Amino acid sequence: MEQDSDIQSKTSKALIDKLEKENHLTTEEYAFLIENQTETIASYAAEKAVKAREKIYGKSIYVRALIEISNICKNNCFYCGIRVENKSCRRYRLSADEIFDCASEAYKLGFRTFVLQGGEDAFFNDDFLCNLVEKLKINFSDAAVTLSLGERTKDSYKRLFDAGTDRYLLRHETADREHYQKLHPKEMSFDNRMECIQNLKEIGYQVGIGFMVGSPFQTDLLIAKDLKFIETFKPAMCGIGPFIAHHATPFANKSNGTVAKTTFLLSLIRLIRPNILLPATTALGSVMNEGREKGILSGANIIMPNMTPKKNRKDYEIYDNKISTGLESAQNIQELIDSIAKTKCMIDFSKGDAKYLNG
Ligand code: SAM
Repeated sequence: MEQDSDIQSKTSKALIDKLEKENHLTTEEYAFLIENQTETIASYAAEKAVKAREKIYGKSIYVRALIEISNICKNNCFYCGIRVENKSCRRYRLSADEIFDCASEAYKLGFRTFVLQGGEDAFFNDDFLCNLVEKLKINFSDAAVTLSLGERTKDSYKRLFDAGTDRYLLRHETADREHYQKLHPKEMSFDNRMECIQNLKEIGYQVGIGFMVGSPFQTDLLIAKDLKFIETFKPAMCGIGPFIAHHATPFANKSNGTVAKTTFLLSLIRLIRPNILLPATTALGSVMNEGREKGILSGANIIMPNMTPKKNRKDYEIYDNKISTGLESAQNIQELIDSIAKTKCMIDFSKGDAKYLNG
């Protein structure tokens, strides 16, 4: 007699085969895969995900220089350590010159993408950012500029795009309205988040969405909805990492997301959208040594070393124990190269646009 677990395992494998072939499943099928995740199934998915990535990107793992330009934020997201109500956060904002110098150092090290990320800091108005992006594009014409500065008006996104910005990262955080409201205060709206993401796509950006794995109140069915959203929205990039509690937030006592679930989801996302740009995030590296290497072995193809000035790095503490020295630092290139070599891949310093984007 076949055991229930054997039947589940066969069904899961059949669903992964189907996903590999057709790049889509129903929400219920995604939920089945997530609910019945085992080590064997995760390895099966990872093997297929790596194959799918290699077909498009070969052995290349793209690198991006991450510059955390400000931890000043007007928002009060319940999960985030730089939320406005966290009075214990030591605030900083980089000047235009400091940002330019970080980018310049990154360029000298070989990086050809700068990711400028920060809280929603009103100081960074359109004029400031357009001047900065224009200057970066004039001085480093073969490099891409990615912004990740939260929600702005369509007009603002358009101005930043016209100034030369190539990509924009704005995680959707969850594809479910009710869940969104459990993660954010009432001033923040699911509809606005979704509208921003849609606007970015309409303007012509390479758009990155994403969510935290294991965020409070998240269920497997909600993650299945996130996967369905990725399948239908067709983003160029997708950032997922485990939720990690920050001691000075309302979610201080919530449990962290796991590496096992995050890496399994990375594999599924790779199979949904083989050409997607998929980072092995700092959060993944923060919950486990070699977490990011595991991410690459599961289908990720981006690493974002930190180029924020050392004096500020500790203060961009969006969750507890965020790694801020060592491999994630852009200056330790050789260590990074060696760690990627362990995954049988190679660091690729080129601009690293998504290949063969459809939709
Ligand atoms: N303000 C910009 C925005 O909202 O997109 C960019 C900065 S925000 C800090 C970047 C991402 O960090 C968020 O989209 C969120 O998913 C992630 N994040 C925040 N707090 C986190 C936590 N406690 N654990 C894991 N990821 C977290």
